[in-house]
Amino acid sequence: MAVHRIAVIGGDGIGPEVIDQAIRAAEVAARKHDGADLQWAKLPWSTAYYKQHGRMLPEDGWDQLKAYEAILFGAVGDPSVPDKITVHELLLPMRRKYDQYVNLRPAYLFAGVPCPLAGKKPGEIDMLVYRENTEGEYAPVGGNLYPGTENQIAVQTGVFTWKGCERILRAAFEAARKRPRKKLTSITKSNAQVYGLGLWDDVFHAVRKDYTDVDSGSLLVDAAAMDFVRKPESFDVVVASNLFGDILTDLSAAVTGSIGLASSANINPTKKFPSMFEPVHGSAPDIAGKGIANPLAAVLSAALMLDHLGLAQSAAAVRAAVAHVLATGAVRTPDLGGSATTTQMGDAVVAALA
Ligand code: ATP
Ligand code: MG
Repeated sequence: MAVHRIAVIGGDGIGPEVIDQAIRAAEVAARKHDGADLQWAKLPWSTAYYKQHGRMLPEDGWDQLKAYEAILFGAVGDPSVPDKITVHELLLPMRRKYDQYVNLRPAYLFAGVPCPLAGKKPGEIDMLVYRENTEGEYAPVGGNLYPGTENQIAVQTGVFTWKGCERILRAAFEAARKRPRKKLTSITKSNAQVYGLGLWDDVFHAVRKDYTDVDSGSLLVDAAAMDFVRKPESFDVVVASNLFGDILTDLSAAVTGSIGLASSANINPTKKFPSMFEPVHGSAPDIAGKGIANPLAAVLSAALMLDHLGLAQSAAAVRAAVAHVLATGAVRTPDLGGSATTTQMGDAVVAALA
């Protein structure tokens, strides 16, 4: 039996609660559909760990993680500790240290989930957003002149490299090629940000020559935002810079229902370093410990992990089980208008898998 070793960082708040359900579903699916054994190493890195040790992870934590094929991540963040520590010591460095340059965020309208847009049929909204995850507008490059005075000047620089643009564009084109619609939209704003996004566009035009089987085009980010609401069904694979991808995926999550359903992957496609899979939502301190968080975003993130591990049948089975539970509608957490607990929702997914 093939064995896959996975590090689990449940983190804070609802993180560990939803991750427990994701583990159950992934384990059952992997064994049944791909004959694979998943081995989990639970790491206690969290705000509680920070309060005890003065750091979010041990000194050799980054080396420890390299021993795993993947990292399943809940959420970090607690009202008693600034984000500057929780997020900036654990979550953000991971993307750069492990060169997880693809941030994949699917948006899918499931049957049984109320859509804020009128007249949309289940499955009609079905897109994969590929967000650049290591450079662009989020590069920590800049500075301040005359801080704290009325003359303060802040400079924030976007960093775009040919290599950085090319690898995210190629990853997105490869994904588009494997999908039935074979369509790709590159998001840009090169009419205003002429250097950085000008380079993005140049690379897009160079790369698309290798993918003439894909129906590709580009769209300005403001027009794209409008179309995400007006006609989200027109998108298949979308590829965007760090900032634009971040904003557009909140929009795509909103038009497909609940934050409790939005999954994501931070992928190092070379597999030189582990990739990390996490629900889009945070630690939700307002509902933590109550056992009512929707675990499906975490479960669907685990499905992305199964895809990355090469367990495609298991991944498909998990998604089908989630779709079945949502369509049946008997078991729903409060965010979906029901009164089921996190564990009951996990039970329903496991039952659907069996
Ligand atoms: P972060 O800063 O870590 O992104 P946040 O405080 O911005 O976190 P969330 O923690 O995602 O945001 O919470 C936003 C809102 O969504 C909260 O009201 C929370 O209860 C709700 N929420 C988040 N995740 C879930 C979930 N899985 N199930 C139900 N409700 C959720
Ligand atoms: Mg927050």
